[in-house]
Amino acid sequence: MKVTQHIAEAKDTLFSFEILPPLKGSTIDSIYRTMDTLMEFAPAFIDVTYHREEFVYREEPGGLLRKKIIKKRPGTVGICAAIGNKYKIDTVPHIICGGFTADETEDALIDLRFLGIDNVLALRGDPIKSQPDFRPEPGGHAYAADLVGQIKKMNEGSYQDPELKNTERTDFCIGVAGYPEKHFEAPNLNTDLFYLEQKIANGADYIVTQMFFDNNAFFDFQNKCKERNIHVPIIPGIKPITSKKQLVSIPKHFFINLPDVLVENILKAKSDTEVKEIGIEWCIQQCKELKAAGVPVLHFYTMGKSEETAKIAKAVW
Ligand code: FAD
Repeated sequence: MKVTQHIAEAKDTLFSFEILPPLKGSTIDSIYRTMDTLMEFAPAFIDVTYHREEFVYREEPGGLLRKKIIKKRPGTVGICAAIGNKYKIDTVPHIICGGFTADETEDALIDLRFLGIDNVLALRGDPIKSQPDFRPEPGGHAYAADLVGQIKKMNEGSYQDPELKNTERTDFCIGVAGYPEKHFEAPNLNTDLFYLEQKIANGADYIVTQMFFDNNAFFDFQNKCKERNIHVPIIPGIKPITSKKQLVSIPKHFFINLPDVLVENILKAKSDTEVKEIGIEWCIQQCKELKAAGVPVLHFYTMGKSEETAKIAKAVW
């Protein structure tokens, strides 16, 4: 079932969770353990992130450096299929522009259709570490809006491959990313919203936001979207702070602000346990306020920490 259909039929705020494929070498059991912890909250859908390959240089005998492509977290599509099959729940694989030609994207989407997957989150992807900025694959897409356009065309029966002209249409529900505190490359929030509007105009059905720790950032974003006639559901992305290190790593990696009071309280905490308690309690209060404001879904970034997520979900449930 489509994410938008879940939202349309819901009587209250729904829960959804985003999980990461396990590191290469681990088995699907770690995903099942995460799912077992989270199923209690009857999630409407489960997002599975996609992780691009990276280049590393490995030293060979004799000192020669060989460029090697590695993918640390493979298996997004397979994991979605496995979760759907075992838990009878809708999954949302993330698909990205980076590293894919439009033809390869088409093949991937056809696979998703075979597997009965109704939703995708369409993203550009970040620049890979060895490149200073995002470089699209030759024959691929430079922006998420273009990827959305390709999926929408497939939904209308128009494929890259002209031989597929008279085949059935796909029927994907398309999600895209939104940034209450703007995307790090955008010169300002208004410009970023202008491009978000393009994603919607090209066919996106809903928005999931980057995490934020100040609900006012989300509410302002919601209002600005309304002013721009963006009326698709906006799903807040939520994550608790669980360690002092994250006071640096979260702003560094996600380009978001942490509220003064939260930072002060975490800095004052005397133990790791106390830090976690403060982070979880902050997140619970955020969720309660968002739920009271009528958000359609609370989307939790689990980042491999399903127990903390479960504590929050239990308090808000
Ligand atoms: P876009 O919407 O293409 O925007 C990228 C930047 O380009 C923005 O600054 C935008 O303002 C600007 N822009 C857009 N269109 C144009 C244009 N026509 N001309 C000029 N500028 C333009 N990454 C992964 O690799 N895997 C994942 O699974 C993943 N999941 C995510 C889930 C969520 C909910 C979120 C919020 C992010 C996720 N990301 C993931 C990270 C995402 O890939 C990065 O934030 C990426 O840098 C931008 O992706 P986007 O889809 O928002 O890009």
